[in-house]
Amino acid sequence: MSSDSTDRPDTRLIHVGRAPEKYAGAVNIPPFRASTILFPTLEALETYDPALRSVRYGRTGNPSSHAFEAAMTELEGGHGAVSYASGLQAITSALLAFLKAGDHLLMVDTTYGPTRTFCDGILARAGVVTEYFDPAIGAEITSLIRPETALIFLESPGSQTFELQDVPAIATAARQAGIVTMIDNTWAAGVLFKPLAHGVDISIQSATKYVGGHADASLGVAVAATQAHWLRLKKTAIELGATASADELFLGLRGLRTLTTRLPRHQETGLALARWLQQQPEVTRLRHPALPGSPGHELWQRDFSGACGLFAFEMRKVPPAALAAMVNGMRLFGMGYSWGGFESLILPCDPTRIRTATPWQGDQLIRIHAGLEDPADLLADLDAAFTRLRKAL
Ligand SMILES: *Cc1c(COP(=O)(O)O)cnc(C)c1O
Repeated sequence: MSSDSTDRPDTRLIHVGRAPEKYAGAVNIPPFRASTILFPTLEALETYDPALRSVRYGRTGNPSSHAFEAAMTELEGGHGAVSYASGLQAITSALLAFLKAGDHLLMVDTTYGPTRTFCDGILARAGVVTEYFDPAIGAEITSLIRPETALIFLESPGSQTFELQDVPAIATAARQAGIVTMIDNTWAAGVLFKPLAHGVDISIQSATKYVGGHADASLGVAVAATQAHWLRLKKTAIELGATASADELFLGLRGLRTLTTRLPRHQETGLALARWLQQQPEVTRLRHPALPGSPGHELWQRDFSGACGLFAFEMRKVPPAALAAMVNGMRLFGMGYSWGGFESLILPCDPTRIRTATPWQGDQLIRIHAGLEDPADLLADLDAAFTRLRKAL
């Protein structure tokens, strides 16, 4: 049994990282639960090399992490991957791998909130200056580059307001200036957008979201385009003690096998909900990259192969009690952080506090994750929510 690089992407995703012949024929690699690794000889003990993906100690790499990393490397089209206990740990460890005191970091203003908290807290205390930039900046990013600029970090689209960046333009500008680029590619799940093919050096994901896909695993991954960058990520992860548990890696790999089957359904349902929402008189704006008129739609059309189920809409501001009446009685939509699981979610958000370069001037923002339920039932649930809202006004 083997699949090779002549197979198409969906086929590769089913077969990559598996090794039935090594595990008594098991289709999936069983979670490799081990901390201590025994060496038969002194020579074997002394020849450990992380670049060879050998196994020395559970935390520093093992068959579970190697399999997941091989699959994610394939998905993102990179040289190598490093897995982490969470998406946030992947982001913070990758930033620490490439930044030092005195460096200037250019961070997109619409970045994930906890990424911002890390920059403004731990990175600031470590002597790294973070400057936030307008997600719409494009090639103009060159005007912000200083001699000490070491890294540009993107997230496209942002996960609350769904603004896209011109990733190839920014990556080209960075490359010309010798600056490393990273992107949080969680929305695209490594499938809908290929950052490394667009010139980005490192693509990072919270595999907690679509890769895991079942709202039950916490996992992160960074995929590097080159051996040098991969090694730097790997060595830093070892120094930080950053690692992913075998059980979470198992769930990540299992989720990955159905990723490209699930995503089109998330997209289809998300678009059905977005188009319905567009018709409601209270709704002032849709923020769904695949819808014309949404911020960044043209970039999405140019660079992405599809959409996932996460988007937002704006509606006119209503008193808090009316908003509560609307979202408190949902039958199917859960209210909670996170997304990418099989279930639908609704979340009122206020981006005011998590952007500084480009102040938020929109209306009441509500984020939707379209899950795998029947869209007709989800529409009925939303319809009832708008009825409750109207009664409360
Ligand atoms: C959830 C999320 C993260 C963090 O992932 P965890 O696995 O929860 O640490 C990072 N970026 C984005 C865009 C996210 O939605």
